[in-house]
Order: sequence, then structure tokens, then C-alpha cells
Amino acid sequence: MFVQVPRGTKDILPQEIGAWQEAERKSRHILSLYNYQEIRTPIFENVALFKRSLGDTTEIVKKQMFVFKQGEDHLVLRPEATASIARAYLENNLGFGVKLRKLFYIGPMFRAERPQKGRQRQFHHIGVEAIGSFNPNLDIEVIGLADHLLKELGISDYKFLVNSLGCPKDKIKFSDLLKEELSKHKDKLCKDCRLRINQNIFRVLDCKNEQCIRIVSGLGFGHKYLCADCKDSFVLVVEGLKRLNINYELREQLVRGLDYYSGVVFEVTHPALGAQDALGAGGRYDYLFKELADKEIGAVGFAFGQERLMLAMPKNNQAVGLKVYIVTLGRAATEKGMELSQKI
Ligand code: AMP
Repeated sequence: MFVQVPRGTKDILPQEIGAWQEAERKSRHILSLYNYQEIRTPIFENVALFKRSLGDTTEIVKKQMFVFKQGEDHLVLRPEATASIARAYLENNLGFGVKLRKLFYIGPMFRAERPQKGRQRQFHHIGVEAIGSFNPNLDIEVIGLADHLLKELGISDYKFLVNSLGCPKDKIKFSDLLKEELSKHKDKLCKDCRLRINQNIFRVLDCKNEQCIRIVSGLGFGHKYLCADCKDSFVLVVEGLKRLNINYELREQLVRGLDYYSGVVFEVTHPALGAQDALGAGGRYDYLFKELADKEIGAVGFAFGQERLMLAMPKNNQAVGLKVYIVTLGRAATEKGMELSQKI
């Protein structure tokens, strides 16, 4: 029997590759204007890296990792690249002599999800990590870069959803508030969310069950879980987005599923994408370096799903193909033609 491509993966065919290359070329151009340098980390990492950084109770770590064993090594196809880049930053001492490291990556990620439109098991990220600063102006610059990148790709009609999770202490307050509020509706939540209330309450906010969505959309805390410093930073960031004319909306229910996020988080949505409407997402992860190496290093990043960028891009973005075509008649002309084509 013919062996087909694995479920949730796709061949990117020659007729499609022009648009992929165009998206990558334009992205590289904008990223270099903002002084980001490319980094390429391995496609597989030690499992422990993602367990430590994303958190044991996150959907990715619990259900979506392609894990394999090679001898004594427990390995995984990378489900995302932020943890890998933080590891590479620490391992290669990339902070040495450089206060702010700006890195970007383009490449495949792997998650064992149920495939559907806009959701694959191998997909591609175009992402950035700015490492070495707690300054909230960096959040503005990174969101500004994401906005610029989308415009360069000819994408319009997108919207940034923005929230702040605050520092770890605020995050605990936020989670307590959520617990208190959601416990009142416990009977109406789905089976998974009833468990999530105790295991990882933030995941309830990402649940796709209609009844859960209805309950979650009614929640609002006016950011009362934020400490004075985190509130100030958030106001500064929001003011900055206004100054840059970025189309944003505050969304207190936006949390991001991974443990390492703190402070300002954001997501970019696009109406043309259907149910999977996120073009990309990102935020601050100041405590990832503490978790990995007990170091105080501030950082902000984002990742766009390249497949989804391609869906939202105008279709005329194809690269030019053939420029010269030689037609010959007879043996002598063919010989001459081949000589000529080789020269060209
Ligand atoms: P995340 O790391 O989950 O925040 O993902 C960042 C972006 O990658 C999302 O907003 C999507 O555009 C894209 N993405 C995430 N998971 C998938 C997937 N399974 N298939 C296709 N694109 C994805």
C-alpha cells in the first residue's frame, strides 16, 4: 500500500513555495531593520527543557509533544522555540557584552494536535525574542515590530488583543480571583474546566466549549490584581500602542496557555482565518530565565504562524520565476543553446 504523508503534515509544493519565500524575504527585511539577528536551534531538544519552562499542566506538555527516546536521551520535536532560544542564550552566553539581544527564527514546530483547518501537526513559526530588558518600552517596540511585519506582508484587518498578567505575585492574585469567580459557575463548566479550576485555572479562559466561553466572557476584574508597578507599565504600553496607531483592544480574558508568560501578553487575530483566528501571539517572559538558570533577565517575544500569515496575505505575492527560455532547432543549435544557457 502507498505510504502517505503523516496526518497533520503537508508537502509545500513548488507552486506554493514562491509565496513562502516572499513572506520570509519580507519578514527578514523588516527584522533586520529592527536589528534582529537570526538564530537556528536544533529541531529536537531534551524533554526536560519544555517541562521546566512551559509547565507540567499546560496542554502542550500534557498532550501535544512528539516525544522519543534515543538510548538514554529523552527527546522531543520542539513544540515552540522560545524555550530553545532561552536555553541557547544561556548556554552560549549571548548576553555577554550585549545588553539587549534581539533574535529571530523561522522554522517548523511540532504539536500532536487534532488536525483541522489552520491547525497542523507540523507548522511554521516566524518569531522574535528580545532578551535583556525589563523596560516596558521594549513591549511597545516588539508589538510595533509585529504590526510593521504584518503591514509589510500586505495583511490588513487584523487586531491586537492585549492584557497584563502582572508579576508572579499578581498572577497568583489573578488566579485566586478567577478561582473565586469561576467556582460560582462550576456546575456549568465543562468536565475538563472543572478539573482545570484546581490544576491550571488560566486554561479555563482558553476553553473552546460554548458554555465555558459564555461564562468567561462575562468575567472582568478591572485589572485589580495588578500591583502599582505592573499597572504603571501596562498603562505606559497601552499609551505607546495608541501613539503608534496600532489597532488594539484590551482583553482581560487573554492569558496565553504557557507558564512562562508574565506582564504584558498579546494575540493578533484576523477575521479571515475562521475558528483558528490567531495569526500570532506573544508577550513578556521575565521569569523563564529564573526557572532555567536562576537568572534575572527580562525578555519579550512573539511568534506568528507562517501558514496563517500566508492565508491572510494577498494572493499576488508570488515571486517571479523563469526569466530566460532558449529554444533550439537541430543538433548544432542545441549544442550552442546549451553552451549559452550555461553561460547565462
Ligand atoms: P503559540 O505558540 O501557540 O502562541 O502559537 C503562535 C501562533 O502559531 C498561533 O497564533 C498560530 O498562528 C500558530 N500555530 C500554533 N499552533 C499551530 C498549529 N497547530 N497549526 C498551525 N499554526 C499554529
